[in-house]
Amino acid sequence: MKLNRTIPFEFEGKSYEIRIYSKGWKFNIRAYKDDSPANGYSYTVDLPTSFDIKSILNIDAIQELVKLTKKDIENKKWEKLVNQYLKTVKTSADKKLGCQNCTSREIKAMVVDGRRMFECSACGNIWYEHVTSCLTGEYILHEITTNVEKEGQHEEFTEILLNGTFSEDLSKGLSFEDQLANWANINKLEYSFFYKKDAFGKERQAIRFFSKVPRVSPAFYG
Ligand SMILES: [Zn+2]
Repeated sequence: MKLNRTIPFEFEGKSYEIRIYSKGWKFNIRAYKDDSPANGYSYTVDLPTSFDIKSILNIDAIQELVKLTKKDIENKKWEKLVNQYLKTVKTSADKKLGCQNCTSREIKAMVVDGRRMFECSACGNIWYEHVTSCLTGEYILHEITTNVEKEGQHEEFTEILLNGTFSEDLSKGLSFEDQLANWANINKLEYSFFYKKDAFGKERQAIRFFSKVPRVSPAFYG
């Protein structure tokens, strides 16, 4: 699908944008925050091919969905739905795993950075076991995944990872870029480089980590 238009808006001091994607006469409308979907909703409409594709973005069928998408954010519809759902979930003694995003019980588990990572086969939601201690190098990685889960993204100065957890080990042929890419791949994270000012006002390269699939972790999983 190609991106046709983005409509930015602010809500509670945060910047969102509504994106209109299309393929032929099929349109998909979804809210984004920091380049990631802002919630689990997206709206699709299939329009008749007799419609004029050039002026199609302004028609009511699409504008209604744009309004709906914006309202979902302003009414916190997704958060309410997830919270409502969590209230109905009882913690079971056997801790049978289920995805808090889509209720599927098809969950894959693997150990990543010293704790278990769970992935829902149905929707791609990922969450992690809570651990009370970890190795020094793992701490920052746990922080990244936690913030992606809570805030939708995490920003880190490149140097911090380059000089620490992902420092180059050329004897093993592992460059910083390779380690970063491997780690992001295992954790199903996307990332992009950008520049931002550090505490001293100096422009420095940083990495923004995010997930294409919003992450919903079980509130009761201990
Ligand atoms: Zn799921």
